[in-house]
Amino acid sequence: MIQKPLQVGIIGAGPSGCYIADALGRKLPGSHIDIFDRLPTPFGLVRGGVAPDHQGTKNIARQFERTMSKDGVRFLGNIDIGRDLSYEELKSAYDILLVTIGAMEDRRLGIPGESLEAVYGSGQFVAWYNGIPGGQNLAPKLDGKSVAIIGNGNVALDIARLLGKTSAELESSDLCAHARIALEAAPIEDIWVIGRRGPLEASFTTAELSEFGDLTRVSTRVDPSQLPQGIADEMSEAQKKLAEKNLEVLRTYAARGEQDDRSITVHFLFNAAPVEIRGESRAQELVLEKTHTKNGKTISSGETFSIPADTIISAIGYRSTSFPGLPFDSARGIVANTEGRVEPGVYAAGWCKRGPQGVVPANRADSLAVAELILQDFADHQTQGKSGGAAIDALLAKRGVRIVDFAGWQKINAAEVAAGQGRPREKLVEIEELLTAAQA
Ligand SMILES: Cc1cc2nc3c(=O)[nH]c(=O)nc-3n(C[C@H](O)[C@H](O)[C@H](O)COP(=O)(O)OP(=O)(O)OC[C@H]3O[C@@H](n4cnc5c(N)ncnc54)[C@H](O)[C@@H]3O)c2cc1C
Repeated sequence: MIQKPLQVGIIGAGPSGCYIADALGRKLPGSHIDIFDRLPTPFGLVRGGVAPDHQGTKNIARQFERTMSKDGVRFLGNIDIGRDLSYEELKSAYDILLVTIGAMEDRRLGIPGESLEAVYGSGQFVAWYNGIPGGQNLAPKLDGKSVAIIGNGNVALDIARLLGKTSAELESSDLCAHARIALEAAPIEDIWVIGRRGPLEASFTTAELSEFGDLTRVSTRVDPSQLPQGIADEMSEAQKKLAEKNLEVLRTYAARGEQDDRSITVHFLFNAAPVEIRGESRAQELVLEKTHTKNGKTISSGETFSIPADTIISAIGYRSTSFPGLPFDSARGIVANTEGRVEPGVYAAGWCKRGPQGVVPANRADSLAVAELILQDFADHQTQGKSGGAAIDALLAKRGVRIVDFAGWQKINAAEVAAGQGRPREKLVEIEELLTAAQA
C-alpha cells in the first residue's frame, strides 16, 4: 500500500473518468484527485449521449456524484485540455495522469455526396438533441418525409425511436426544447434503419429493438426474405443469443403487415451498403448496394438500388479527438496505449482507450483494470513531490479560466430540474448560461 498522497489528474468526467476516480480513491487513500472536463457539466455521454427518453440509464450519474463529492476529489469543469491547459502542464503537475476523453467525433461514410446538406453524423445529431454546448445550434433539416439512418447499433435505434415518438411519448424525457419543437414540426413518414450486414450481425440489443413495437404512431416493416432461417454456427455463444432474440423480434415485425392507422413507418433494411448520396445541394436519394454476409464478412453484389432520403444520419461509430502532445493512434482514432499504458505516469481508459464500444458499465471493468496497472506501476514509487492542483489552480487563475466546481454543477443541476416543470429537467445549452447558473 502506498502511504504518501499521490497527485492524480483525470482528463474527462465521463463514466470512465468517474469509475477510475472511485477506484483510485479507494486504493490510494489520501491521494488528491482532480477530474477535468471541457464542459461545465460532468458525466460525459451519460448526459450528452444516452437517449433522453432512457432516464433510467442516466441514474448512474448519482453514483458518479457520490464519487465527486468525496474528500480529496475535485471536479473542474469548463476546462478544455489542449486549450486552457496543455498536456505537458498536466504531466508536470500530476504523478498519475488519466486520459478518459471518450470518442465523439463521427466516423465518415467516405462516399460521394457525404458533404451535401441534410447529411449528419450521429455524434452531431445526438449533440443537437441532447443539448451539448457547441452542438445545440445544428438545426438539422428535418423538413422531408424520408429519413435514412445508416448503422445497426443502439445509437441508430435511439435516433429512429426519437424521430418516431409522439410529443406525448417524449413528455417524460429530457429532450431539449429546441429539439422537441423541431421533431414535432417534422413531416416524417418513413424512417429507414440500414445495415450493411445482415440481421444476425446487427449489434443493437433486443430491448431497444422491441421498443418500436410499442410506439403509437410507428408501423414497423421488415422484408421476411431478409431474415435467415437459422443462426450461423461460427458465431460465439453470446452473439448467437443476441442474434436469436433479435431475429424473434424482427420476425414479429415482418409478420405484422401494414398498420394503416400509423403515420410513420420504420423500415429495417439489411444487407445494404451505402455507396452514394445524390441530390442538388442537399440530400435527396441514398444509393445502396445489395450485399450478403459470409462467415461474418460482407460481400458486395454490384447490384444497386436507391431509396428517397431527405435527411441522412450516419451512425457508424466515432473517433477520439486528440490534443497536442497526446500520443495518438490516428488509424484507429484512439489514444495510443498498451493495455491502458500511454507513457510513464500516463494512462488511458474507456472509449478513448479501446474504441467506441460498450455500454456505461463496461467502462467500470475497464477502469478497474487500468487502476490495477497503476497500482502495479506505483507499488514501489512514492510521489515525486509534484504540485498537483495548486500549480494548476494558479495557471487557471492567471489565464482567467472560469472553473465550474462540484458545487457549481449542483447549482446547474438544481436550475435545470426546476426549469423542467414536471419533466426530468430542461437543460441549459449555452456555455454562458451554464456558467451563470453555476455561479448563482
Ligand atoms: C448516442 C449514444 C447513446 C448511448 N446510450 C447508451 C445507453 O443507453 N446505455 C449505456 O449503457 N451506454 C450508452 N452509450 C455508451 C456510453 O455512453 C459509453 O459507454 C460511455 O459514455 C463511455 O464513457 P467514457 O468516459 O469513456 O467517454 P465519455 O462518456 O465520452 O466521456 C468523455 C468525457 O471527456 C471529456 N473531454 C473530451 N475531451 C476533453 C478535453 N480535451 N478536455 C477536457 N475534457 C474532455 C468530454 O467532455 C466527456 O465528458 C451511448 C453512447 C452514445 C454515443
